[in-house]
Amino acid sequence: APAAMALAFDEYGRPFIILREQEKKSRLQGLDAQKANIAAGKSVARILRTSLGPKGMDKMLQSPDGDVTITNDGATILELMDVDNQIAKLMVELSRSQDYDIGDGTTGVVVLAGSLLEQAEKLLERGIHPIRIAEGYEMASRIAVDHLESISTKYEFSATDIEPLVQTCMTTLSSKIVSRCKRSLAEIAVKAVLAVADLERKDVNLDLIKVEGKVGGKLEDTELVQGIIVDKDMSHPQMPKRIEDAHIAILTCPFEPPKPKTKHKVDIDTVEKFQTLRGQEQKYFDDMVQKCKDVGATLVICQWGFDDEANHLLMQRELPAVRWVGGVELELIAIATGGRIVPRFQELTTEKLGKAGLVREKSFGTTKDRMLYIEKCANSKAVTIFIRGGNKMMIEETKRSIHDALCVARNLIINNSIVYGGGSAEISCSIAVDAAADRHPGVEQYAIRAFADALDAIPLALAENSGLPPIDTLTVVKSQHVKENNSRCGIDCNDVGTNDMKEQNVFETLIGKQQQILLATQVVKMILKIDDVITPSEY
Ligand code: ADP
Repeated sequence: APAAMALAFDEYGRPFIILREQEKKSRLQGLDAQKANIAAGKSVARILRTSLGPKGMDKMLQSPDGDVTITNDGATILELMDVDNQIAKLMVELSRSQDYDIGDGTTGVVVLAGSLLEQAEKLLERGIHPIRIAEGYEMASRIAVDHLESISTKYEFSATDIEPLVQTCMTTLSSKIVSRCKRSLAEIAVKAVLAVADLERKDVNLDLIKVEGKVGGKLEDTELVQGIIVDKDMSHPQMPKRIEDAHIAILTCPFEPPKPKTKHKVDIDTVEKFQTLRGQEQKYFDDMVQKCKDVGATLVICQWGFDDEANHLLMQRELPAVRWVGGVELELIAIATGGRIVPRFQELTTEKLGKAGLVREKSFGTTKDRMLYIEKCANSKAVTIFIRGGNKMMIEETKRSIHDALCVARNLIINNSIVYGGGSAEISCSIAVDAAADRHPGVEQYAIRAFADALDAIPLALAENSGLPPIDTLTVVKSQHVKENNSRCGIDCNDVGTNDMKEQNVFETLIGKQQQILLATQVVKMILKIDDVITPSEY
């Protein structure tokens, strides 16, 4: 087995294991399997470690076809990293689960899992059975999750007092590349969430928030649109740029006369025949326009195009139209305006029209770029966050950051329990778990204690990333927890002058933090229980 692994030392003299996957060796068993897997998991966590916290570094990733992404979002980094090791893939999956359920804490969860693996490795070396470690971790995670509940507090806010929510979103955004605009972006996120939230039922449907981006302008120009925006313009430049109280026909059928199919032959051998055919076509289209007008439509939005002649006629008959609108957009427009998508022209009726208080075309700067704003919709719950920025990379990263902020606001509306951040919650849990270890006489106590040590990885990484001496800083903060019985002390990453995270307004949702601990424990237990790794030898 050792042939598949080699011990090497990194630039700081720390040992690490190189896995030679290409070598013929195709099977790892027992302790070797666990060690190899732990090494793989740890190496993924090590990459994310430096991205944690407000002073975390960003990563630049290049895809095989040359697209460059700059981000410090854990889930995204892992998503784009091309890992072919199965255990590393589990870590990617871990981050994705946290992203899916909670939307925030995607870096932290991986760092925690890496640290749990590191501690487990030490226990394995001391001869403790992996199953005992898994059991101890399980107990410890439950203690930690309960402890989090006990130190949590309620975060008060209301529809009229949104400032607390804005503050929370600002915390999330402060560690992102877009932190320069954290105030305005946080406000946009909170307003968007409140627009789609049902505060009574504590329900938020984030699907109703569309996040759209267009290269150009500044990040500061990012805005919240009370409705839908579509990257299209009116089909004819002389059509009105502004339609109030619009009644919208939403068509997925072609809005033009049926074209003779190629397999049918139409003999046009005289000018008269041509004119008759043309007249018929025109009449047909004219009837279609009339039908739209009869049911009361003042705007037509089509999935398909129509030719210049039809376009001209639409303009003449004063029926503004938008063509080539994608299926997803059409659906959103239908939901927002309370209209129905009409797949066959004959089915168009007044009831199926969508309603919007205002539809306007907006042009940007000196460019030809125009967007269609559909606002004051019948279903006022659909909103759009329209992101502007200098380049595609910036817009994509802003989208990810906004996503995190939206999730944080949503989580608080669903459950307004919070714990303080900056590593304070982890330190408090670490102390509680450590104390609990003393009450367990069995071998598990070692695992429980190791779990407590693993939790320290979060404050340690936050301190290290902020340029503070990690161990010294942690020791001071930990003793503060014990002496002052204050579970809010964390790492003063931004050198504010206090490490009381309540004063710094740095906190995370209780469910988010609990989920991090549960998910990290789960994946580590899974890795520990694998004792046989078989890979095809021609790998
Ligand atoms: P994640 O993807 O896990 O959310 P982040 O890079 O956003 O990772 O870092 C989150 C961590 O940074 C949390 O532990 C959070 O409490 C901490 N944090 C965020 N802002 C601050 C701050 N101003 N001071 C100290 N810690 C902070």
